[in-house]
Amino acid sequence: MTVTHFGDDESAAGRGPVLVLASVWKTYDQVPALRGVNLEVGRGDVCALVGANAAGKTTLLSIAAGLRQADRGSAEVLGLQSGRRCERIRSLVGFAQQELAVYPPLTVRENLVLFAELRGLRRTMRDERIASTAEAFGLSRVLGRRVATLSGGTRRRLHVAIAFLNEPALLLLDEPTAGLDIEGRADLLRAVRAVAEQGAAIVYSTNRLDEAEELDRSVAILDRGAVVAQGRVAELVSAQAETTTQVTSRGLSAVFLALTGRRYDPTHAGSPEGGNVPTA
Ligand code: ATP
Repeated sequence: MTVTHFGDDESAAGRGPVLVLASVWKTYDQVPALRGVNLEVGRGDVCALVGANAAGKTTLLSIAAGLRQADRGSAEVLGLQSGRRCERIRSLVGFAQQELAVYPPLTVRENLVLFAELRGLRRTMRDERIASTAEAFGLSRVLGRRVATLSGGTRRRLHVAIAFLNEPALLLLDEPTAGLDIEGRADLLRAVRAVAEQGAAIVYSTNRLDEAEELDRSVAILDRGAVVAQGRVAELVSAQAETTTQVTSRGLSAVFLALTGRRYDPTHAGSPEGGNVPTA
């Protein structure tokens, strides 16, 4: 599979990548989910991993997090092989999975304390981190509320906030804005940029091309288990514009259509298929 690379990722240069996936293959019951994926994400980089449903995004993130094993190829976090030293990798990684993983009978504060302690944060640091994370995610006013009484969007805020708690070196976010309102999305994107500025590496999986454009950082397009293009949004878009005079779609949508054969319709972005609709 040919991967189109655009530009150099200058923030990774010379500082060593945080995440390196090299020729990663993963098959479930003889159905390939990942087909030789290569991906590098450096300190301070945000990589928007875009792809349609079933493209392999969750599988890729799970392997990066050390929760699943690649059949072939290697996954390294800060030089540690995923699979061999998974426990250590898990302590370096914050992973907000797609499914909510919060405790409904507990309050928001109790959830944050629980996960902070599981990650080894000591009391003073723990309380500071809980306060700043709650503030960043608009949770300060609901710290005393039981999660069971919160709206779905507020639960999602808490779920995603937990991944940020211990300032991980690698932050993996799997479709983190599902169910969030405009304010929730804005808070999240702000938090993502802030932790990138502090040096974290972030992989942000989404089937919303508009979100990848809004982040305006690196994009990796995953199609049927393979990364078919990687680069800055502007570089991908201008390279695509040079190869076609068709004006059926613009921006990242045009790149996505050309490389995957799928058109992106933002009006479907909230549907189960995301915004990716196969071409007729
Ligand atoms: P979505 O956007 O719908 O969440 P995705 O891009 O995250 O999709 P994956 O969840 O990684 O994609 O799935 C990739 C492929 O692997 C799909 O064909 C899916 O059916 C398959 N798959 C994922 N997990 C399993 C599993 N545990 N057992 C069997 N097949 C699986």
